[in-house]
Amino acid sequence: MTTGVLALQGAFALHQSRLESLGEQVVQVRAPADLQGVERLVIPGGESTTVSMLAERFDLLGPLTEFAQSGKAVLGTCAGAILLSAEIQDGRADQHCLGAIDISTRRNGFGRQVDSFEQDVQIPVLGDPPFHAVCIRAPVISRVGESVTVLATIDSRPALVRSGAIIVSIFHPELVEDLRLHHLFLSL
Ligand code: GLN
Repeated sequence: MTTGVLALQGAFALHQSRLESLGEQVVQVRAPADLQGVERLVIPGGESTTVSMLAERFDLLGPLTEFAQSGKAVLGTCAGAILLSAEIQDGRADQHCLGAIDISTRRNGFGRQVDSFEQDVQIPVLGDPPFHAVCIRAPVISRVGESVTVLATIDSRPALVRSGAIIVSIFHPELVEDLRLHHLFLSL
């Protein structure tokens, strides 16, 4: 199976190398045609306003929405969580979201760059030990719909959630050598 990594901006290269170290075949997605043959997709962290603008410019908004709604597995991290959400709070007026998972996200909800933090988080689906979560200008998941399961929390707020084959984290799993979350994603 081929895994696509949305490679418009942000932390795509490390996601690619983490997946490749798990034996995955990875393609970088920058245009609609790149999605051909892709069975699952990672939408990495970065700057969600920029990713939205570039996705619009490269005619990717429709194809990405279709992909995410087709039941194929998608992992969205940080800015990727914002892009996948149904509603963005504190976003730019012209910023798009794909509506792929029934959550609302508040951009920079934990504060500014200086409020970025790292924390060990208990994630029952990943077992022990706790996962080291790196949060960089992380969004707050401010609402989860009924179809959404909360898999982990930070400060009592959802930090990792799942709906069907879509998994969303507010942290950057590609920044640690712990491959358990990527492994879970590949097993969906
Ligand atoms: N705050 C960023 C945004 O709004 C997300 C930060 C990140 O992906 N690390 O897109």
